[in-house]
Amino acid sequence: MVNYIGRFNVIPSLPKKLEPLREIVYNLFWTWNYDAIDLLRRLDPQLWEETYHNPVLMLGKISQKRLNDVAADDSFLAHMDRVYTQLKVYKEEKTWYQKNYNYGNENVIAYFSAEYGLTESLQIYSGGLGVLSGDHLKSSSDLGIPLVAVGLCYKEGYFQQYLTNDGWQQERYEITDFYNQPMTLITNKDNTPLKIELDFPGRKVYFQIWKIEIGRIPLYLLDTNVPENREEDRKITRTLYGGNIETRIQQEIVLGIGGIRALHAMELRPLVCHMNEGHSAFLSLERIRLLIKLYGLSFNEAKDINFHSNIFTTHTPVPAGIDIFPNDLMEKYFGAYYRNELQIDDKTFYKLGTIVKDKPPTNFNMAHLAMNMAGFVNGVSKLHGQVSKKMWQSGFPDIPFDEIPIEHVTNGVHIHSHLSNDMYELLYRYLGEKFNRDPSDEEVWKRIDEIPDEELWRTHERRRERLVAFARNRLKKQIMQRGGSASEINAAKEVLDAQALTIGFARRFATYKRANLIFRDIERLESILCNPDYPVQLIFAGKAHPKDEEGKKLIQEVIAMTKEPSLRKKIVFIENYDMNVARYMVEGCDVWLNNPRRPLEASGTSGMKVIANGGLNLSVLDGWWDEAYNHEVGWKIGNGEEYENLDYQDEVESRLIYEMIEKEIIPLFYNRGEDKLPRGWIAMMKNSMRALGPFFNTHRMVREYSERFYFKAYEKRLLLMNNKWKKAKEFSAWKQKVYQNWSNVKFISIAEELKGVELKVGNKYPITAEVELGDLTPKDIDVQIYYGKIDNGEKDKNFVTMTYVPKKSKDNRYTYRGEIECVNTGQFGFTLRILPKHELLINQFELGLIRWA
Ligand SMILES: *Cc1c(COP(=O)(O)O)cnc(C)c1O
Repeated sequence: MVNYIGRFNVIPSLPKKLEPLREIVYNLFWTWNYDAIDLLRRLDPQLWEETYHNPVLMLGKISQKRLNDVAADDSFLAHMDRVYTQLKVYKEEKTWYQKNYNYGNENVIAYFSAEYGLTESLQIYSGGLGVLSGDHLKSSSDLGIPLVAVGLCYKEGYFQQYLTNDGWQQERYEITDFYNQPMTLITNKDNTPLKIELDFPGRKVYFQIWKIEIGRIPLYLLDTNVPENREEDRKITRTLYGGNIETRIQQEIVLGIGGIRALHAMELRPLVCHMNEGHSAFLSLERIRLLIKLYGLSFNEAKDINFHSNIFTTHTPVPAGIDIFPNDLMEKYFGAYYRNELQIDDKTFYKLGTIVKDKPPTNFNMAHLAMNMAGFVNGVSKLHGQVSKKMWQSGFPDIPFDEIPIEHVTNGVHIHSHLSNDMYELLYRYLGEKFNRDPSDEEVWKRIDEIPDEELWRTHERRRERLVAFARNRLKKQIMQRGGSASEINAAKEVLDAQALTIGFARRFATYKRANLIFRDIERLESILCNPDYPVQLIFAGKAHPKDEEGKKLIQEVIAMTKEPSLRKKIVFIENYDMNVARYMVEGCDVWLNNPRRPLEASGTSGMKVIANGGLNLSVLDGWWDEAYNHEVGWKIGNGEEYENLDYQDEVESRLIYEMIEKEIIPLFYNRGEDKLPRGWIAMMKNSMRALGPFFNTHRMVREYSERFYFKAYEKRLLLMNNKWKKAKEFSAWKQKVYQNWSNVKFISIAEELKGVELKVGNKYPITAEVELGDLTPKDIDVQIYYGKIDNGEKDKNFVTMTYVPKKSKDNRYTYRGEIECVNTGQFGFTLRILPKHELLINQFELGLIRWA
């Protein structure tokens, strides 16, 4: 290997007049600004495609002659100035946050994710989680949230997919040259790269920091590929979800612990941290370490303080999707850290990695760590919130199901990033400027009805045509790469029909998503697809995880179908699913098919991307669709059943798909009047856009995160910081007191004053209780009546807080009185409970303490 003694970076030399281009290409604002994309394409259409839409690389490759030409082209310069002005205005105009909140911009919220899907040329994402993180940043920028983001800078990123002749997935890793990406290295004052260090077993590991600008939001990507590191440490951040379990723990140390250190080194001190999935949960430890080190707080104080300003979003409904590290691996990487820095013993430390109390943990669960450390925990759809409660119920043994402190914030998509330029122009024309500013405004979407059916349909059809052309082109390239024959290549030109009803299916090929379900009855499928009067076609795309043999078999099955002579023109698989392929597909499909096994799809977001594009969803009632569906906006497969017998489930649900397509979808699509317009179909497109558009987007989602979590956490943090953490210390001491005394908290006597009496609606049922509190006092607790209909299980229960009746008591006994109001008829049950009470608690279950009568 050659040892270079010096390094230098070459950057494009732009004619002076084109200087604004540099700022334009280095801010990913262009990724959701159609005028900007047009400008970049116009600069050099061929290079734009060759560089896979990477404008920085394009500027590096473009000929000086071309640059000189456009610098002399007044119309190009005017276009550039317009885009430049848009960027300036965008960055300076008053945002939703500034108009509604007044926390300033100094103390930031830090968002952590292992992957970000921002644009196709930046391969630092694998799928839905990444695209969601990217969309989170774009909407945060639009809304003006004072947020900074942290991730890892993967030189190889996620794999590129190509298939062998018999349809077996092959993986190729492409090296990304960061110097030719819209990112810049963070440097010290002397222009050398800023390096952060981490303690690894027997050595230090260093990383540098790349910054990407996404509108107003900075994203910092951490990169261990620096000469100071040993060869193997340089590879820590090389691939996304690659390597073994040790690579994983190393990556997560860099992301969580390194991430916090990096922010502090850049003088960004986040008061609130959002862990998007458990990969970054080690950040909670580093935040504690810092409080101990900077302010001399105790471990418990620091933990309690941070608890109120950590947010954890879980994305998986299955335990297998969670990172779990064996204790010996944890000891190797964290032994010195917890003993010397956190100053706790092994028992205390390992308890952080489990939510199940009373059992010595044998391994360290990252989701459990995140839950133990975050006062705000949420799933990503209404259904997933429930599923998460079930999955983690064992951590909350005494708490009624409905009160388990796991909430949900339903996912969304950044509408402008997934919307075709054609549809954008149409919507902009009819919905107005407000559609640009706030695509989550219901009033804006109501104006959908003003769009003439004909225009909406023509726009949608144009995108279907584009999709068909794209698919043919890709297919041709795929065949050429595989060394296919000239006749095969020629045949690729004839696949698909730009007028036919087009169903799209694109997602990771994980087995639970059942990409092959529609092939269960091939004859029936054939009769659906090949009807000459009402033709239907299927477009597939998706990657299987490199280690997922079963997923790869699913791809192979789809490929086999695309080779059946009768289906050859009707089914296409587009290789290398990524944001670019996804965009063509969600913009051009008529129907988006989604058939996971409920409840394994936490949310799903690709179906949301079709909404604004006028596509319609056909889906199992799982994830977001369980919440979104009604018969006016799309179609469901089944009624939300869950099955024990999976084969039987496949049989039933595949039939339901055929039936829906045959009886509902085809008739609606092909029912054309004199003017050839499918009026009923267009009405449904409008229903879907009007009803779902305002909700299933990341503007609504980020506002929810902000108002329900970020700002609350933020205010609490400021309160705790006051007076040198005075309140924080009091609160922490109070928590300890409550924990220590809880065993003395009990009920002594309960009197139902109307026992046995039949009550009428409107009557009240009084109850008196005497409790003993040890060293605690009525200030520290609430006594509650918990009641509801007996046959409803834990559903629809209510509670009322009883009032303390001051009277002379002996032995620290206290009397409480309360009453149940009878608003419904039926048989009711009640019980009493004691819960800790403090003004600083996020909820009364935070301590996990509850005493039932
Ligand atoms: C939107 C998107 C996803 C997520 O789709 P799901 O429906 O949630 O599976 C995955 N990959 C890419 C490239 C996407 O654009």
